[in-house]
Amino acid sequence: MQLKQQILSVLRKPDFPDLEFLYSPEVLNVAEDILMELLEEEKKDFQKKLKTLDTEITFDTFEEFSLLDYFFGLLEHYQWVNNDETIREIIESFEPKYIDFGNEIAYSKRYYEMLIYCLEKTFLDYEQKRIIKKSIEAYEVRGIALSKEKQDTLKKLNKELSELSQRFSNNVLDDQKSFSYLIEDEGAISDMPEDDKKVAQKRAEKKTEQWFLFDASGASYMSIMKYCRDRGVRQHFYESRNSFATKWKYNNKPIILQILCARNSKAQLLGFKNYAELSLHFKMADTSEQIIELFADISQKARPKAQAELSEIQDYFNITDLQVWDLGYYANKLRQEKYDFDEKKLKKYFEFESVLAGMFTIIDKLYGLKVKKLDIKSYHEDAQVYEVSKNGKFLSYFLTDYFHRPLKRQGAWANILREDFEGKKKFVVNVANFQKGSDGITLLTLSDVETMFHEFGHVTHEMLSTSKYSELSGFHVEWDFVELPSQLLENWCRDRAGMKLFAKHIDSGRGVPEEMLEKLEKLDTFGSGQMILTQNTYAMMDMGLHSQHIPETEKELDAYVLENHKANTLLPIPQIYSPHTSFTHIFDGGYASGYYSYMWAEIIEKEVWKVFKDSGDIFSPEISRKFHDTILSQGTTKKASELFRDFMGRGVEIDAFLSEKGLI
Ligand SMILES: [Zn+2]
Repeated sequence: MQLKQQILSVLRKPDFPDLEFLYSPEVLNVAEDILMELLEEEKKDFQKKLKTLDTEITFDTFEEFSLLDYFFGLLEHYQWVNNDETIREIIESFEPKYIDFGNEIAYSKRYYEMLIYCLEKTFLDYEQKRIIKKSIEAYEVRGIALSKEKQDTLKKLNKELSELSQRFSNNVLDDQKSFSYLIEDEGAISDMPEDDKKVAQKRAEKKTEQWFLFDASGASYMSIMKYCRDRGVRQHFYESRNSFATKWKYNNKPIILQILCARNSKAQLLGFKNYAELSLHFKMADTSEQIIELFADISQKARPKAQAELSEIQDYFNITDLQVWDLGYYANKLRQEKYDFDEKKLKKYFEFESVLAGMFTIIDKLYGLKVKKLDIKSYHEDAQVYEVSKNGKFLSYFLTDYFHRPLKRQGAWANILREDFEGKKKFVVNVANFQKGSDGITLLTLSDVETMFHEFGHVTHEMLSTSKYSELSGFHVEWDFVELPSQLLENWCRDRAGMKLFAKHIDSGRGVPEEMLEKLEKLDTFGSGQMILTQNTYAMMDMGLHSQHIPETEKELDAYVLENHKANTLLPIPQIYSPHTSFTHIFDGGYASGYYSYMWAEIIEKEVWKVFKDSGDIFSPEISRKFHDTILSQGTTKKASELFRDFMGRGVEIDAFLSEKGLI
């Protein structure tokens, strides 16, 4: 009993939590009980809240700190960085109940009515109004305001969609399962990185050590397309990938038609023209027409460079019939032979501690943020705690956990573990999987450095939000706007003036030599023409199928997909081409009518970056102040398109993107 009280008091403390204690075996041992108790308590509170008399409703009725969310978030973080049996069991067993409770709130008619009452009948300031309006909108898109009959239809559609998406993914997985390819001649993959080879070797282990087995995974595919000398093998991989889930019981085409039809019906039921309009309602971009037009323009302008890239490959390697499955291989070879430098040499300039310190200097120069390491123990020696302040005011705790460990989830991410302690302090996190040096010195690759800046950009956005309400902070902006501060900050690690602040040779202490910098700059736009055409193919396939080209038959579906491909490629059209049947991003994932956001994020980020660059000083105090005042500090107090306009003085244009990509 005493232990439980102790845990609760740690959680209630409006300060950095004792993570070493919270993640200790004795606490984890009772964690689920505590989660259950908190859940029951919050369920009761919620029921009580629903009984609030209309006349007693105020904005504060909806504002409540949830100890349950906080504790669950902390445990979830621990699972992501240390996914062992114990923590996995806790999360897996509790999560369904947690989700159920979330749904109980999300579909509560009374709660929705209370929000409406609050909006219409009580006094709210601008920010409060925006929060309540956003909540109401979220309820409405779940169909809460529809008639009973329409609600039933919506429920049916949602159920149908979830089953269809599941079937779509299963078909892809099941069909891919039977695919594998054995390479017995190491010579064919002699250029492949050792790590990739080792993985393939391990897969083939049962056969013989000298063999390499490749499967249908993205990593396997990329390895082959980039490094396999044997053209026939590359063609085989390309064609296989473009015929997954097209045949027999795995055929996804009828499922795609049903998904598109159900999504369209759902959108119309909720009062939207089509699914793209519904999806964009919550994003920065205005309409599908705007995206289609903008992307068509970019694609058009990318064509000459894409053509030049193909010609360069054809000339350099003297190939007359370049096919789509040759592109990755030769582009990579060209990059290495004509432009490349030794990645290992570059790494010597990016020592971890020096990069981290440089990043903190950069953020100080830009926004006056001071980052100081604290002597707080967390849960692992690699997990460090910092405090971030501005003008002497404490803004946030910042936990970093940068190095790879076997039980850590892959990739890198930024997260908020507590939106605010009393007094508006936050607790944000950056996690990555950098390879730690064995002799105590860690050298990062350029891509590691970019990752570090990227994730730090996300938390900076969160920390600098000045709204009183966490619902309006940086992490809550529109989905196609959220990558702006993160991608933007990456520029400072690539730019000479930024790099100067952290890149020092590990032995000599000298900066990156001119010749290397020049190569880096050239590589920045290498292959950008082709890349844009590829991105455009996927983005337009997605947007078209959800707006202007909703097909009714498999024939129409295939015809549109092929036509879209033809409009976006300069290479011969392959005989076998069916990328849509395994396009899980949009048919079983959150990217439906949202694939465009990858390139969109780059477009808006390059616009802002160009303003900094054109000023002649990437640390220009006026511009960084303006970016801070109009965007970073604003969080989502206004619509993203308005914030962007406040900074740029106009809407989105593509020139900065085109010039950064070397297209104009
Ligand atoms: Zn990001």
